[in-house]
Amino acid sequence: MVGQRGNEWQCETCGHQHQGLATVFGAQAPDVWLQATSTEREAGELTGDMCLLEVGGERHYFLRGPVEIPLIDAPGEVFSWSAWVSLSQESIQKIADHWDDPARASMPPVFGWLCNELPYDQPTTSIATHVHNREPGVVPYIELDPFTDHPLVREQASGISLHRLAEINKAVMG
Ligand SMILES: [Zn+2]
Repeated sequence: MVGQRGNEWQCETCGHQHQGLATVFGAQAPDVWLQATSTEREAGELTGDMCLLEVGGERHYFLRGPVEIPLIDAPGEVFSWSAWVSLSQESIQKIADHWDDPARASMPPVFGWLCNELPYDQPTTSIATHVHNREPGVVPYIELDPFTDHPLVREQASGISLHRLAEINKAVMG
C-alpha cells in the first residue's frame, strides 16, 4: 500500500519512496534459444515477436507477448513481463495468417507454454498460458492459466503493490 504525503508517495510496507521504477522487463529470446548451439541458431530465426528453433529434428515455435500484472496502487496501470511462449505449429500459423486481419482481436485464444525463467521462488518455465490476440499492430497478450498454482499466476490474478514492483526491479537489476 502507498500513502500520500503532500505530493510525495510513501510506501506503507517499507516506508521508502519508490520512484522511477521500471514497469516492463523483457527477455530478448526464449531461454532455449540462449541455450542453443550457434548452428541451431543459424538454422533458426529470431525477430522481436517470433522465434523458430529446430532442436533434435523437432521444430519449436515461439511468440513474444506481455504477461501483464495490475498495479494495485496505481489503478489502470500494469507491470509487464515481456516473455516468450511456445505454441503449436498450427497455432503460430493461425496467428501469422491473421497478423494484419482487422478481426484478429476476436480470434479465440491459443494455448502456449511459458519459455522464460523469471525471478520467482518456483520455476516459471512451462507455466500453461492462453495467448490472446489483439487488434493489428498490438502484440498478443499472455494470460497465465488461472488454475496453475504459482506465485506469478496469483500476481497476475490479484495484482501487485508498488512495494512488490520495487522488489521485482531489485531482483532484475540487482
Ligand atoms: Zn516499499
